Amino acid sequence: MAELVDAPASGAGARKGVEVRVLFRAPSYARGASFGWQAISSQCPWAIFARVLRGLMRISVLALSLILAACASAPAATTTTISTTGIAPAWDAARIEPILARTQRLHLNADLSALTPGEREAVRELLAAGERMHRLYLDQRHPQAVAGSVYLEAHPELSAHRDLFRLNSGPIASTLDNTREPFLTVERETPARNIYPAGTTRATMDAFLTAHPERRAELIDDRGVVWAATPENRRRALAALDRYPALDTLHPGLRDRLRTSETYLAVPYSVAYAEDIYFIYERLIAAADHVESGDAAFARYLRLRARDLLADDYEGGDAAWVTGDFTGNLNAQIGAYETYDDALYGVKTFFSLSLLVRDRPRSDELQAALADIQAVENALPYSEHREVRSDIPVGVYNIIADFGQARGANTATILPNDAYLARQYGRTILMRGNTLLNDDLFAETHRAFTAAVIADQAADLTAEGGFYRTLWHEVGHYLGVDQTADGRDLDTALEDTSALLEEMKADLVSLSAVRLLNQRGRITDAQLRSIYASGIRRVLQKNQPRREQPYQTMQLMQWNWFLDRGALRFENGRLRIDYRRYPEAVTSLLREVLAVQRSGDRVRANAFIDRWTTWDPALHEVIAQRMRETERTRYTLVTYEAIDGAQ
Ligand SMILES: [Zn+2]
Repeated sequence: MAELVDAPASGAGARKGVEVRVLFRAPSYARGASFGWQAISSQCPWAIFARVLRGLMRISVLALSLILAACASAPAATTTTISTTGIAPAWDAARIEPILARTQRLHLNADLSALTPGEREAVRELLAAGERMHRLYLDQRHPQAVAGSVYLEAHPELSAHRDLFRLNSGPIASTLDNTREPFLTVERETPARNIYPAGTTRATMDAFLTAHPERRAELIDDRGVVWAATPENRRRALAALDRYPALDTLHPGLRDRLRTSETYLAVPYSVAYAEDIYFIYERLIAAADHVESGDAAFARYLRLRARDLLADDYEGGDAAWVTGDFTGNLNAQIGAYETYDDALYGVKTFFSLSLLVRDRPRSDELQAALADIQAVENALPYSEHREVRSDIPVGVYNIIADFGQARGANTATILPNDAYLARQYGRTILMRGNTLLNDDLFAETHRAFTAAVIADQAADLTAEGGFYRTLWHEVGHYLGVDQTADGRDLDTALEDTSALLEEMKADLVSLSAVRLLNQRGRITDAQLRSIYASGIRRVLQKNQPRREQPYQTMQLMQWNWFLDRGALRFENGRLRIDYRRYPEAVTSLLREVLAVQRSGDRVRANAFIDRWTTWDPALHEVIAQRMRETERTRYTLVTYEAIDGAQ
């Protein structure tokens, strides 16, 4: 799970993405070995040469890629240019300008001075892996996203389009009215994205699964693409197994299923994206070699994760990641974890890579704060309390670079999501310090809060309040219901309502936890108030959420519940927070969320969501409009010193 700053209008997962500079891509059945040139430009003389060349002439994308391939330590695979035929701007720059005018630029420049020489080399390899992960992510999101990226790379004059692509991680823009529209001449976005066959709807897939229940587990797998069972697709998947025998070995029975399955093929990510996955595998192994002598546990994690990517089973790497005692300065989130982008079932995971450098003093301080975690669990409003470990791996980091689904202004991450892994090994919490405590991001969120609440309460919100609320939100994912009463995983049982409920639970556990910490004298009354204020800022929306936006939808539910329970009152066009009624409002809603999760009843979940997502033009829209009017920026375009250079 990832926590976003003031999650904006966007795709299912509410992201604030940035583009990767993809130079070209092979057709998806024969991917090439190039990667974004900026990632390696600081190390590789060929890349600098290529950059100069590119400035001098309109060097072909393919030629540039081949030059860059010489810089990668991986063997160059067959390369083919991707066709951009038919792709052109659908919007003119004037239509993009109002969105970019509402976009703040956030440049992250993590201090890398503490890195050892081996860690620096590992960073280089992991950035190369990340560039490739980002391309996979674009491809997962939209069938023409990579082609769109190539097209924009070849048209430097379209800088506004390039920024918009970067902001949206693809050719579909979130508009200021919170709709989703193509700004290049590509197909409209569909719930199938590019992970189910084009045109698949929930109804068609449900009908198929009802008729073929034995195929549900295979098709609704979190790390596999669904392809139409055409002869060409069958050949393509089998060719990957022929070319990479390890994949055949690691997926017993797959070859037979690919030969005989009808209507749909379930293709594991490693097979669907075999060449890219092997490229990433090699980068991770190389990175591990570089840190072996200085941080053996991190090296073991990287090697296991490399293997996980071939097997589409992350247990080995996750165990090493969560329980490993990393002694060096680096950490990395690597692979496909989050399901926010799957608008059909909320099950398919999307690729990401985050490279992080540890903030040691803050990490040590946080670790100490977790002593009360069992007491927090025991105080939650449900009866089946669990024993929770107090040695949760939590750290504060600065972001070196984010790729794929993780790119944007995320403030914290807790992984893995799989309940059985979390039960067995725990989950690691990565607090992202250089976004969480960023002054510009806080100023924007504070302006909105000031517009929404009565003047007396505007100063209640502080950046520190947001930091602690976010910390306990992440810890909140550790606590409460983690499976249904009849033993099913929440994702499986609750499907597309699962992420929404899990995020709401975490929000509310956070607000419960801080009250207990206050009672125990660990945080002051002023701190508690600022965390409560942050909890209110969190739920206020500038636009009516779309149902497929899990964060915004559950935030609106909290907003409505707080109004209903008197924790918020609407007075003369503004909201007044009633801090006295606040704790009961939190507890009662949390009780309901935990009960729905435990029931595992998707129908009940949907009814609960429908009941609490009212948008009243005379209330919500009034507040939303006030917030919009004071808004200077809604979107955040993130750049990274490590891949984009100095800005
Ligand atoms: Zn969360």
